[in-house]
Amino acid sequence: MAQNKFATEITFDLNDGSKIPALGIGTVPPDDPSQVKDIIITAVKAGFRLIDTAWYYGTEKYIGEALKELFDEGVVKREDLFITTKVWHSFWHSPEKSLDTSLSDLGIDYVDLFLQHWPICLKGGPDGTPSKPMADDENVKYDDDPVTGTKFIDVYNAIEDIKANTNKVRSVGVSNYSITKLKQLLPKVKHFVPVVNQIEYHPQLPQQDLVDFCAEHKILIEAYSPVGGTGAPVLKIPYVKELADKYGVTVNEIVNAYHICEGRIAIPRSSNYDRIKNMVRLPKLNKEELSALYKIGEGHPVRYVNDPWGYGIGFKWWKGDTLSKIED
Ligand code: NDP
Repeated sequence: MAQNKFATEITFDLNDGSKIPALGIGTVPPDDPSQVKDIIITAVKAGFRLIDTAWYYGTEKYIGEALKELFDEGVVKREDLFITTKVWHSFWHSPEKSLDTSLSDLGIDYVDLFLQHWPICLKGGPDGTPSKPMADDENVKYDDDPVTGTKFIDVYNAIEDIKANTNKVRSVGVSNYSITKLKQLLPKVKHFVPVVNQIEYHPQLPQQDLVDFCAEHKILIEAYSPVGGTGAPVLKIPYVKELADKYGVTVNEIVNAYHICEGRIAIPRSSNYDRIKNMVRLPKLNKEELSALYKIGEGHPVRYVNDPWGYGIGFKWWKGDTLSKIED
């Protein structure tokens, strides 16, 4: 069998001429958020070059501590890394302020990629708080109608302006955009078509229509929750284990390869240092295997991130969504 390559050595071209690593490390906080410092140090030493974070995660200051140590010890230089952050939807009114907070916590003066976290606008305090934009009765507090509102487009335009007018951002993109929302946004783009759309994607959530739509517009797919988040449900699929045995790699490496072999970026997360070190090989899955993995979700699609603010934004299989006209 041909030797497995390393996913950490692969980059993809973005539509603005930059390059993005094919594999990144996610930074949603574990039980002890300060552990993110050691997670990042472990990941970078294992070869990861993309760090995916967000103002909302509350982990940027720990990433900043890790970066300082990695730079001081000469493990990597700033330009070796690709760092992504995002503006949260209750901070929608001040994307640059959100970015400045992130840069300050991270201890860097630019990010490689700045994303709009969600295509909606929710109520928050003047600095974007509450970070969980829900009323005491657990209802979402909207600042714009999630189905018909268009303020989310202004937010993307403001993000574009930051790239156009400052040196704080190299590339701009979106996250959690359905085809419906992309169709609203694209005719209104001012300067830069998003370079990526970061969405939940794994073998249980087939989304070829969205992938094709993004490809038409040269928007790369960045796959979050590649194992389905906490509990790693996707790794319980017997075929994933079968492929891991066949290629002599870990189950995590199979689900990452599912994306990378198809030109999608994968951003897994783990607080287990051995797991992080064993997520970097890239088995070259063949067409039949990729197609068999895709078909797993066709029979019984499952979306694991069903946040209540996602109602009405046009995604299929959003649990409890009575707002969107969902076609499936
Ligand atoms: P993943 O799908 O990568 O799941 C991570 C969880 O799976 C952890 O609890 C981890 O536990 C567990 N896990 C991983 N491998 C195994 C294994 N072999 N056996 C048992 N458990 C395992 O995570 P996320 O949902 O966090 O998504 C990844 C990243 O994507 C995020 O960290 C974030 O950066 C981004 N994201 C973006 C979103 C957006 O709205 N744009 C939404 C969600 C995520 P352990 O720590 O013990 O390894």
